[in-house]
Amino acid sequence: MLLLALSLLCAPVDHEVLLQLLSVDTSHGHELQALQPVLERFKAAGIPAQLLESAPTRGNLIARIKGTGAQRPLLLLAHIDVVPVEGQKWKTPPFTPVEKDGYLTARGVTDDKAMASAIVAVALELAASPKKPSRDVIVALTSAEETGAIEGVQWLVKNHRDLIDAELALNEGGDIFVATDLSRVEVVQMSVAEKTYKSFRLSTRGTGGHSSVPPMDRDPVLQLARALVKVSEYRFPAHVIPEARDQLATAAKAEKPPLSEALANAVRTAPRIDPRDEEAITRERVYNAAIRTTCVATQLQGAPADNVLPTAPWAAVNCRILPDETVEQTEERLKAAIGDPGVAIERMDALGPGGNSPLTGPVPSAVRAAAKKLWGDVPVINGLQFGSTDSKYLREIGIAAYGIDTAPASLEDTRRGFGAHGANERAPLKWLPAGTQFLREVVRELVK
Ligand SMILES: [Zn+2]
Repeated sequence: MLLLALSLLCAPVDHEVLLQLLSVDTSHGHELQALQPVLERFKAAGIPAQLLESAPTRGNLIARIKGTGAQRPLLLLAHIDVVPVEGQKWKTPPFTPVEKDGYLTARGVTDDKAMASAIVAVALELAASPKKPSRDVIVALTSAEETGAIEGVQWLVKNHRDLIDAELALNEGGDIFVATDLSRVEVVQMSVAEKTYKSFRLSTRGTGGHSSVPPMDRDPVLQLARALVKVSEYRFPAHVIPEARDQLATAAKAEKPPLSEALANAVRTAPRIDPRDEEAITRERVYNAAIRTTCVATQLQGAPADNVLPTAPWAAVNCRILPDETVEQTEERLKAAIGDPGVAIERMDALGPGGNSPLTGPVPSAVRAAAKKLWGDVPVINGLQFGSTDSKYLREIGIAAYGIDTAPASLEDTRRGFGAHGANERAPLKWLPAGTQFLREVVRELVK
């Protein structure tokens, strides 16, 4: 017992908090339970902190380390909810953190509990330091990021905007990639923009009736199917936005000809892309997503039974729109591509734009300085996020939000599915302290 107590005493705060957070299943709520020990830790350290309940078992922790007020606040944001594990093949219980063969395995270790624990450690250090930061540092550990943030950041923006209002924010969304043998950091990617998430519902109308006497003039299912074929064949205009340039340049170095040449040419001729280069880039889906808006059919519904003619078949088309294009533009292009006024198009969700943050300024400078201090001449690149994070809600209220990473991993590991949302999600143990150290250095730069 004594030995165990001693070893827990010696464990760094970030690691201890990480193990606590990973041990609570937050895949279906229960964020409040996971956050309670963090609240107690902050209170014991004299940091003003509160748990704000937004729904049963769900809520958000807000804490504030007072600064001198010389600069406007910095918000450190991480989400405590995780995606479910049902249907996945886990080798170890997903909510029991296991340290083995140099890896820490548990649901949420990369997304986003390592970031949360690093934030807690850095906040406690700031509060304990005799030197006051030049700005308030706000900690927000939130719920429901994976399911639309209605009980999380969206709820905070709506109900407690004053508590999270800041000039700058650090959130998930970046990447620190280490070599496959885990020997060194290869690249630091900072997320500066996100594609806009927007789903459209395509529907057609039929008269219904018995399927033994099918319609001979117009079949609403075929009409919808034709529209979906048009959507899948349509290519949105391609161009290189400033936020995606670094990613394409990095890819150009990693790929082989002719793709590497096409990518390098696209970077050189940006924002324009030569049609031949565009063709080569379009063939690789990850690079295709970097140069254009994409839309893909994801849901399909016909009649309620197999012997009934459908009256209102519909399909969902999920679009990811480049940050310099609008939802209206995308809707118009979809309409034109389908070219059938009998196909109705409606917007399905009320999510706002993904948005972008300035490519230069305090956070990009701090990230570059921190990476240089820790890892020398490692490349630091801007990134366009294809997926969606809470940063969009912050950008919408005027906070310059950036995505960084505190759980370095190898690209190989991510490709093999051990990353965010995967079964056996894991992080190399030896790099977790470096991830916290990276956040510490970035924050230090921003509050000096
Ligand atoms: Zn996440």
